[in-house]
Amino acid sequence: MKIRAAVLHEAPKAPPFAASRPLAIETVELAPPGPGEVLVQIGAAGLCHSDLSVINGDRPRPVPMVLGHEASGVVEQCGAGVDDLVPGDHVIMVFVPSCGHCTCCSEGRPALCEPGNAMNGQGSLLSGERRLSLGGQPVHHHIGVSAFAEHAVVSRRSLVKIDRELPLEIAALFGCAVLTGVGAVANTARIRAGETVAVVGLGGVGLSAVLGAVAAGAAQVIAVDLAQDKLALARDLGATETFDAGDPSVVEAVRAASGGGVDHALEMAGSARALELAFDLTRRGGVTTTAGLANPAARFPLNPVRLVAEERTLRGSYVGSCIPSRDIPRFVALYRAGRLPVDRLLTSRGSLADINEGFDLLASGRTIRHVITP
Ligand code: ZN
Ligand code: ZN
Repeated sequence: MKIRAAVLHEAPKAPPFAASRPLAIETVELAPPGPGEVLVQIGAAGLCHSDLSVINGDRPRPVPMVLGHEASGVVEQCGAGVDDLVPGDHVIMVFVPSCGHCTCCSEGRPALCEPGNAMNGQGSLLSGERRLSLGGQPVHHHIGVSAFAEHAVVSRRSLVKIDRELPLEIAALFGCAVLTGVGAVANTARIRAGETVAVVGLGGVGLSAVLGAVAAGAAQVIAVDLAQDKLALARDLGATETFDAGDPSVVEAVRAASGGGVDHALEMAGSARALELAFDLTRRGGVTTTAGLANPAARFPLNPVRLVAEERTLRGSYVGSCIPSRDIPRFVALYRAGRLPVDRLLTSRGSLADINEGFDLLASGRTIRHVITP
């Protein structure tokens, strides 16, 4: 079938994207779903910093590629062997397909799925196939999803079925921001009631972590960012204190406010500098969790003596260490109960046609989550 999609032909491209126009809205060919695959009509897709990192060259991916990995939609057609979804089902896309039987999948860590991540790296679906093409030439899939389009063919193992009552534009946020941010709190850091938490970096993932820490019953939720309006939103969402990351005395200020440092610091900005800051905000014996994706060339100075003599822990968190089929329904239930108001992260809306302008909003920090509908 022919679909309209946002194709990245060349990277890096610099802002303003309204002028450099990294994404071209083109009519591409989408092949029918193969065995174990599903054709989904895209309902809504969020613009995420990980898409931006592909555009600006921080995370190089093969081109041409249809971007977009935070999305929801409606099942339109199931490929051979897909017997647990039917047309009309509502689904959330998950950006790491999990094979279900590699070592990492077997130990309950599907975000680390070996074939899933290998296929994501080469820009194909889990099957190794590419269902997108333009002028007879294959077009790469973005981490198994490619949601900046009217339709997508994805692996069944990239989908979680959800209740039809959840609005699709809210549902989309669960696929990346909520899974990554709330998952980092609940699964990786395992924050418990009464603990103290600092979140460094307040994009969609960082603010989801703030919401997750509040929902987990953290006694103190300290939010740190360079942008005053994001700090104000964090306070609205339940952060107990906020600090300007650009203040030269921010470490001393947070340590003073938390009685010598927090139990848990979460780095959600995607920079080595932010990780260093998060590490310095923790108390002796504290835990630093990083879910921000820095440039692959970035390095972080770590003093091994502090790790040993202060019994510090440093953890990576990918897709919030989530088991999506277990955690998405849990997080949706918290949203429904009013305890995880993720709709507050949806700060602007647009169309597929205006996607470059949407990325300008995201890059300049004027929106948290810009959600487009095809
Ligand atoms: Zn994302
Ligand atoms: Zn696997």
